[in-house]
Amino acid sequence: MSDVLNYQDDCLFCKIIKGDIPSSKVYEDHLCYAFYDINPQAPTHFLVVPKAHIQSVSEITRFNEGIVGHIFTVIAKLAKELGFAEAGYRVVSNIGEAGQQTVPHLHFHVLAGRDMTWPPG
Ligand code: 5GP
Ligand code: ZN
Repeated sequence: MSDVLNYQDDCLFCKIIKGDIPSSKVYEDHLCYAFYDINPQAPTHFLVVPKAHIQSVSEITRFNEGIVGHIFTVIAKLAKELGFAEAGYRVVSNIGEAGQQTVPHLHFHVLAGRDMTWPPG
């Protein structure tokens, strides 16, 4: 059981954070949870999510902006520990309908292990 306080009953990632839906954990602390994507788009593909339910980047304000810095510190640490920092990798956050966001709980995709293409589709 995590220390999530404001989880939403109908949110897939809140259920994953609580452990109600199983996931393959990469990292966890009191503020965030990282787990492998069920449909990986690169040899390494995991998601980093705040434990607090925030819908997307569009819901970041000066009151909750600290979580974003924390998540990027965690990503930088994991990239070094998992060995892909030097080769390079990509961090993506899809936002809303046009951004192709499918789960409305803020998450950062971390993709590594292959050369990425640009522009993204
Ligand atoms: P989005 O499309 O919102 O940017 O990203 C949502 C991501 O969540 C997708 O890459 C999708 O594969 C992943 N996903 C959806 N359902 C589950 C699940 O039940 N478990 C895991 N580990 N990933 C999921
Ligand atoms: Zn949620």
